[in-house]
Amino acid sequence: MVSDAQMEFRALRGTEDVFGAAIQEWTLVEARARQVAHRFGYTEVRTPLIEEAQLFSRSVGDTTDIVQKEMYVFADRGGRSIALRPEGTASLVRAYVEHELFKTEGLVKWFSIGPMFRAERPQAGRRRQFHQLGVEAIGATHPLLDAELMALAMTLLQACEITNTRLCLNNVGCRQDRERSSAALRQQLTSHRAELCKDCQARLTRNVFRTLDCKRESCRRLVQRLHVTLTRCAECEQHHQAVLAALRAIGIACEEDATMVRGLDYYTKTVFELRHAVLGAQDALGAGGRYDNLVQDLGGPARGASGFALGLERLLLVRQTLRGKPAAASQEWNRHRHVAVLALDDATQQEAFCVVQQLRHAGIAATMDFAGRSLKAQLRSANKTGAPLAVLFGAQERAQGTVTLKIMTDGTQVEVPRAEVVRAIQARVGPS
Ligand code: AMP
Repeated sequence: MVSDAQMEFRALRGTEDVFGAAIQEWTLVEARARQVAHRFGYTEVRTPLIEEAQLFSRSVGDTTDIVQKEMYVFADRGGRSIALRPEGTASLVRAYVEHELFKTEGLVKWFSIGPMFRAERPQAGRRRQFHQLGVEAIGATHPLLDAELMALAMTLLQACEITNTRLCLNNVGCRQDRERSSAALRQQLTSHRAELCKDCQARLTRNVFRTLDCKRESCRRLVQRLHVTLTRCAECEQHHQAVLAALRAIGIACEEDATMVRGLDYYTKTVFELRHAVLGAQDALGAGGRYDNLVQDLGGPARGASGFALGLERLLLVRQTLRGKPAAASQEWNRHRHVAVLALDDATQQEAFCVVQQLRHAGIAATMDFAGRSLKAQLRSANKTGAPLAVLFGAQERAQGTVTLKIMTDGTQVEVPRAEVVRAIQARVGPS
């Protein structure tokens, strides 16, 4: 153990190191995410972690908490304003427009897995570096596409053994509807100005929609008391009903939440959240919706789009709560069933090293000890990691041009010629 006085560096607050049993959970969840996304026809995409800061102020919105308070922004050497991406949609739409995919692709269906950065106060379920699975379909306005995305999210959660997720849904209308709703809401709230928190008082003029996202209990209660409803034009209402009907048809239960607007400005029509009781106050596992104006706002043609993002830390937290702690790391190690190659003295180490490499070339997982430990200690760890076989090299074997194979399960030993070692092991364990 390193004492505090000696420890110079620690991971930054709100960030974490992932290893051992935890990394197995990560890779498992990521593998299932990829599987499900592929099944729905989405292909993987990776975009940079850094983008021009303006990309996010233009898309997520200047007046949102994400852009105003949470974005990590710095000037690069050329004086450009760069942001660590706080979310994924803007980057994917930027890539879609930059590569002019609207010219060649009818509909682009993408998913992406990677870290996001927000300078939030770290707490349970809130990190400064966290990971999202983002799924976006760019190039269509059809309501069935919204339903497909929700079905994908629910299927993925089931594939990760997460049950009892609540799907909450609203339709915030088109841009014109949002303007009408904002005006009505502003009028409604202005007469209650004193009851709003300082932030919401400022939001009244800057972006009144944000008051509906306010986490303060007093603001939430006021919104509830006023029975705030959003305006929806006939087309948006029809879209909403079509989404509800599609979800019903495929047997996905949802709850309508008439005041849910989501914290990002680009949403139009459908918005949804996936909530789980296990998460307590920060109960959103994921969220998304339709953003029909964003492609155009970022310099592309008019194209509809829809998507969502799941928070992977929260997903893993819920998974762990429902299933219990993941198995110890060594059990995953067992899956590979590494053959343990043991050098019994210094003179045989290089020979052991060569055999380890030969085994690996032959497709057999193999490891050796580099710590100069005793035979007993090496055998103990071979046992612990579930090695099916140990290969023993010592002075005697060297003199005879052989090695000793020890079958770990029953302790029996056989001598094989040095030149036969790979074949003999292959015959016993096969490729890993
Ligand atoms: P948003 O992009 O804000 O809609 O967030 C989508 C999902 O990402 C949320 O539902 C969370 O699961 C996750 N998420 C957002 N912010 C954080 C954070 N600071 N720490 C951990 N997960 C987060």
